[in-house]
Amino acid sequence: MSIKVVNLLKNYGAQKAVNNISFSVDKGEIVGFLGPNGAGKSTTMKMITGYIACDGGEVEVCNEKVSTDTLQTKRKIGYLPEANPLYFDMYVREYLEFVAGIHQVKNSKTAIEETIATVGLTLEANKKIGQLSKGYKQRVGLAAALIHNPEVLILDEPTSGLDPNQIVEIREVIKKLGKDKTVLFSSHILQEVQAICDRVIIINRGNIVADDTLSNLQKGKDNEHIVLIQFKEKVALETLKQLARIDDIIDVDGSSYKIHTTHPESIRKQLIELSLKNNLNIVSLQSESNSLEAIFKSLTAAK
Ligand code: ADP
Ligand code: MG
Repeated sequence: MSIKVVNLLKNYGAQKAVNNISFSVDKGEIVGFLGPNGAGKSTTMKMITGYIACDGGEVEVCNEKVSTDTLQTKRKIGYLPEANPLYFDMYVREYLEFVAGIHQVKNSKTAIEETIATVGLTLEANKKIGQLSKGYKQRVGLAAALIHNPEVLILDEPTSGLDPNQIVEIREVIKKLGKDKTVLFSSHILQEVQAICDRVIIINRGNIVADDTLSNLQKGKDNEHIVLIQFKEKVALETLKQLARIDDIIDVDGSSYKIHTTHPESIRKQLIELSLKNNLNIVSLQSESNSLEAIFKSLTAAK
């Protein structure tokens, strides 16, 4: 187990920022830590990395207790804090040398060059950090988190404030890092998590409200999907009603239909066969699963 959080607790005065949460992340997993602003993501991450103490519970990183083995565990953790504090007057390579020095990285020259290549900073490595775009500043933050080759990466909202192209680029870097590291990254954006990882832990008001794979979450309670079909021509409802495994069918306008089913693949195949047999033209064919957005909203709605 790379990260194990048990009954973790943090209060700020009367406010319970993190309320007795437990979860774990296996070696090599990329897990999204999702929740609205103020949910307790950053506070949890600060406790995992040992930057703040908890008021109760325990965190283990690579099977060592963070509370008793802070230095030992910090060596195994790369942390990109939410604000990504950087020295704007330093050059990229100079800053990474400085960070490598703090971590006492052996063969630091090689480590720095490898890290620069990994995060895609090669062309910017001789610039001052202050001259870089926000996306490249974020790469510098990632490089600083990676320089000592940690087993576990904790990334707090790594794409927040970036433009759409930069977001895609940083996601690609994170996916690449996830190939040989354990990654826990936070986000308040659902699509983000969908684009990067399979499993998601959803936190709301300091409590874990879901911990599952995206596909399981999408299956929902009754595992029902909706297949939307639009033909170029009018098609009789009776013709479509002959298909197997339809739970319900709604006639939208005589050529578009909404089909409720627990077997969307089968329905799609049958629709294609039907259109070939009857010489019909399909304009569009889509299936919708339980929307993740709806699930996220229902799990994190103010109560
Ligand atoms: P997230 O990262 O999910 O947006 P945080 O972990 O930053 O959430 O915050 C969780 C809650 O704890 C919020 O209500 C926030 O206002 C509160 N909080 C965070 N840091 C402090 C602090 N240093 N002092 C007081 N309250 C804090
Ligand atoms: Mg935060």
